[in-house]
Amino acid sequence: MSELSGRIALVTGGGRGIGRAIALSLAQAGADVAVSGRNADVLEETVGAIRATGRRATAVVCDVSERSQVDAMVAQVKKDVGDPLILVNNAGIAGSAKLSETTDDMWEAMLRVNATGAFYCMRAVVPMMVEAKWGRVVNVASIAARAGAPYIAAYAASKHAMLGLTRAVAAEVAARGVTVNAVCPGYVDTEMTDRSAAFITVRTGRDDKEARKILEGFSPQKRLMTADEVAGLATYLCSEAARGINGQGLVLDGGAFQG
Ligand code: NDP
Repeated sequence: MSELSGRIALVTGGGRGIGRAIALSLAQAGADVAVSGRNADVLEETVGAIRATGRRATAVVCDVSERSQVDAMVAQVKKDVGDPLILVNNAGIAGSAKLSETTDDMWEAMLRVNATGAFYCMRAVVPMMVEAKWGRVVNVASIAARAGAPYIAAYAASKHAMLGLTRAVAAEVAARGVTVNAVCPGYVDTEMTDRSAAFITVRTGRDDKEARKILEGFSPQKRLMTADEVAGLATYLCSEAARGINGQGLVLDGGAFQG
């Protein structure tokens, strides 16, 4: 029997990038998986890949920054596959700008998706975990939840908020069989990092290869992390072996951040 057999997971932003890798990793560990996001086509592709592992899967279109859509998503997941006692808050957006060029819209969008979206999902799902006396929340934060850096004021604020939410809820449910943790990766090889490289090319005139080298240089391993590495850590946090890990923001960046 696989580690997560009989468990049902909900992965937001599960259609591509890190979320897709986590959804597939949880399915390979035995969980049935619901994926959500705003784009139905990519979600259906991921659902097909999950079903190919032999697990049940469903896709729900949902913008996590809209409370009514989150509540409808959770109701749909319950109906399609059952109570999601594993929740992965992965949906997120990023953007770079100097503080003086950070617009109200940018600030509000990042806070709404990255912090408020995770809050809406946790508020809707964690009570089911408490009721079941078992649950796992994994929040995909960022190294920007543990440390600041230039040109990411809104992103860092939103991810610090996500980590604060993680720690507070972890403390609240610690005695109930539920753990709440965050993973905090450095740059990961996904479309989001492609956009970061494009931002560097625009600002500095360097070509894409040089821009990617700069991003790789943030890790002492001189490489980008992979979505599969993040997925492996997230899946471990959902295991019984990880039941003592709670309220943590686990860094995965090759060793740049030590704290
Ligand atoms: P991608 O841009 O490749 O994927 C982002 C995912 O989030 C997509 O599935 C997207 O789906 C979903 N999403 C975005 N906005 C919303 C929304 N309002 N409602 C629902 N879903 C949404 O990025 P990554 O896979 O790289 O990023 C995933 C997470 O990992 C993010 O939270 C990011 O901040 C974090 N992270 C990424 C790092 C990196 O270097 N790439 C490093 C550290 C953390 P759709 O567009 O279909 O809605």
